[in-house]
Amino acid sequence: MVRTKGKSAVSSPASFEKSAAKAGADEASKERARLAKSGRYTLQRQAQKLLPEYRGLASCGRTVGYRETAPGVDIYLDKATGKAHFANLATCKSVWACPVCAHRVTEERRAELQTAVALHAMKGGKMLLMSLTFPHERNDDLKGLLKGLAKALNKVTAMRRFRRLLESVGWIGSVRALEVTHGENGWHPHVHLLLFVGPHEDAVDVVAQAHDLWAKAVHDAGLGQINEHGFDVRGGDYAAEYVAKFGKEPIQAGWTAAHELTKSPVKKGRQKASRTPFQLLEDSMNGDDQAGALFVEYVNAFKGKRQLYWSPGLRKKLGLGAEKSDEEILAEAEAQEARKAETELMGTLNGDDWGLVLSHNARGQVLAAAERGGWPGVRQLLEELKGRRPTDSGAFWWEAPLVKYYQDGMKPIGMMRTPG
Ligand SMILES: [Zn+2]
Repeated sequence: MVRTKGKSAVSSPASFEKSAAKAGADEASKERARLAKSGRYTLQRQAQKLLPEYRGLASCGRTVGYRETAPGVDIYLDKATGKAHFANLATCKSVWACPVCAHRVTEERRAELQTAVALHAMKGGKMLLMSLTFPHERNDDLKGLLKGLAKALNKVTAMRRFRRLLESVGWIGSVRALEVTHGENGWHPHVHLLLFVGPHEDAVDVVAQAHDLWAKAVHDAGLGQINEHGFDVRGGDYAAEYVAKFGKEPIQAGWTAAHELTKSPVKKGRQKASRTPFQLLEDSMNGDDQAGALFVEYVNAFKGKRQLYWSPGLRKKLGLGAEKSDEEILAEAEAQEARKAETELMGTLNGDDWGLVLSHNARGQVLAAAERGGWPGVRQLLEELKGRRPTDSGAFWWEAPLVKYYQDGMKPIGMMRTPG
């Protein structure tokens, strides 16, 4: 067969249709991503309103770094991905309270977990997913429940029989994730343990014997008797699925975190009533004040807690570097964005522009406009916003290393007014 040069570049109608469909699907998935991002900014604003005393959260994505030349918020476009992002804004780095920061941190963590799982598989290892919880009631307060959970976890991991069970299936370590949902039985804190084990045939059945040990730990921690939902262990497919979905919030993305704990259809009815913290936040935005109060309780209880806990030595055994803190992950992600050669500064929103954007809670819309229509798209959106009635406060801080400036309205103590 004679191949003419350039033939491969000519598309047959079928492959043209295929690539057109692919382009359509790409555009649709980009639009979904934009909607989700807008959703996170909107939710973040609600969190800021519910928790005004959290200063870092209050500044996140609002406070602008002050500089003499061209003061304002920069918008960059990553040409490789087509995604726009802000720069020169404060970030709170709160993985529990802030939907925007949580998304960025968990993206990194998920990628790292996937690497860990892949490295382990390359060495012939297997994964198990163990889920642990305990009885709780409608009116239990979350702080107390978390204390109880920590106590029971300490008890079970201190048991020699527990360690021996794990070691018998070639356990080299685990990653523990702390999560909570709220349902008709109140707060439901639980942990998922990703167990890195050897190529053992009956690993699930062997580790399932830990049920009784967990039951004893829960009992000894004064938390009562576990029922059939208190302990669960599953094989590698579930572990992989858990890792693939780690931290993915169902905000406009169609995935319900509540599904992850047990996948049995029996529990479907209950899952409906079960909400993640960011779903509570969403409901509070839609007028559910009780959901708002629950979200505040959750943030206060989870503040300072670790999202993931790697058992000592596991990272080294897998050949991974030292674990990064939430702060390091975000600082590195920002530095990386800034370094990217294909990232281009589209323009800078000055103080007036930024106040306008904030007064319409339109940060996500601005980025979407930048992605769809470039800088002219951003300017056009700003003109449209000017014609609309503001829905929010446009107040924000200018922040310099030593002096804070303030723009608009309220008069803070010890701060200077914004120049110009
Ligand atoms: Zn944040």
